[in-house]
Amino acid sequence: MFNRSRRNLASWFTLAMGSILIIFAAVVYYLEVIDQLEELDRLLYKKTIVMAANVKSELYKGEQQVDLEHVPLLGSRVQPLPDSQLVYARWYDEKKQLVQFFGVAPHDRLSVPGGFDTIKTADKQIWLRQVTLPVYQDNLLIGYLQVAMPMTSTENALASFRLILAISVPITLSVIALTGWWLGGVAMQPIRHSYEHLQRFTADASHELRSPLSAMISNAQYGLLSRSDDPVAQRQRFQKIFEIAKSMSSLVNNLLFLARYQGRLPNESLQEVDLTGLLKQITDEYGTQPEAQHISLISKLPTSSVDVLGDKLLLHQAVVNLLSNACKYTPCGGQVQLQLHTQSRWAVIQVTDNGIGIPKADLPYIFERFYRVDKKRSRKTGGFGLGLAITQQIIQSHSGEISVKSSVGKGSTFQIILPLAAKRLGMKC
Ligand code: ADP
Repeated sequence: MFNRSRRNLASWFTLAMGSILIIFAAVVYYLEVIDQLEELDRLLYKKTIVMAANVKSELYKGEQQVDLEHVPLLGSRVQPLPDSQLVYARWYDEKKQLVQFFGVAPHDRLSVPGGFDTIKTADKQIWLRQVTLPVYQDNLLIGYLQVAMPMTSTENALASFRLILAISVPITLSVIALTGWWLGGVAMQPIRHSYEHLQRFTADASHELRSPLSAMISNAQYGLLSRSDDPVAQRQRFQKIFEIAKSMSSLVNNLLFLARYQGRLPNESLQEVDLTGLLKQITDEYGTQPEAQHISLISKLPTSSVDVLGDKLLLHQAVVNLLSNACKYTPCGGQVQLQLHTQSRWAVIQVTDNGIGIPKADLPYIFERFYRVDKKRSRKTGGFGLGLAITQQIIQSHSGEISVKSSVGKGSTFQIILPLAAKRLGMKC
């Protein structure tokens, strides 16, 4: 699936860039043709002007008009033309009647208007560039000079240019195709990652749901098939089914939570939350929980309020998740500390325990969904490996960050930083 999408992306990219390249090459070739023609025209015009000046000086020697028939204006057919690059030169009078010519015999009358033309020789072998120039003496039209040059040099230059294009365009197209393939790979990378992530998530979630479901089914089956009327045993089985169902419901709630709170929280759901008050409330509530009975829970909170913008319930859940973990993974007689202070424009919450700690190798993964350092122990304590993923998602949705420092046997410190509300920073919203 990914390879097909990558191929499609690469093909579309090559098609789009290839079309642009071909249009670009065509425009460049067209400009080159114009450039070459202009160069040829400049040369032809220069030669024609020189020849026209010669004609005028021959015709008006000593201000005396000379009889045209007897003046060698353009050289003669027997003698070569003074300029070897020219194919022919023709002199017409002001009534467009042919007077003299050199080279191919023309019509007696000038049939084309003035200016530049591209024509073929009579034998259709060579392309010629021809210019027909009206010649004036004292603002009076005295005749027309028509001169032509072969276009061989221009054709050769254009042929070389076409060869360069014929080689460079396919090479560039291949480079574009390779780039398209590479870019397709780069573009598919995040999609592939999120797809794999989703697949792993679905597989993990199904796996987590499968075990309690089988336990529920086997308990129910045993209850149905058993002939014992012992009400205590029946009650125990129902109790077990109830507990499994409760844990499944908590797992489903967690999964729904992770699916629902993706990305930043919308502005309308943000309110000013006093973290000092919130953490005090959590310590009071949590201290009475059975989970916290075996440890000493200490809170170090500032006397003044520390305000952040957020969702109070979500922040409550994030801190409770950390506290619950700290209590779960700290043996009897241990200590868990909840601290709050501010640092520049951040509110800093720290949950520190002196429990079992987390091995260094596991630290990069503990915020991943369903990741548990010790599967057996966590299953025993009922953890699905979603608590930290949920906490991280909550904190990131508040534009904050969560980090951990831990060493095995010494304990762990989880730190949350959240941006302080603008009011506290003395800013107006
Ligand atoms: P769980 O529900 O399994 O506790 P979490 O996502 O909350 O899932 O935590 C992931 C894993 O990180 C846990 O399985 C545990 O191994 C480890 N962990 C989290 N907090 C602590 C802690 N305070 N001390 C030691 N290990 C911890």
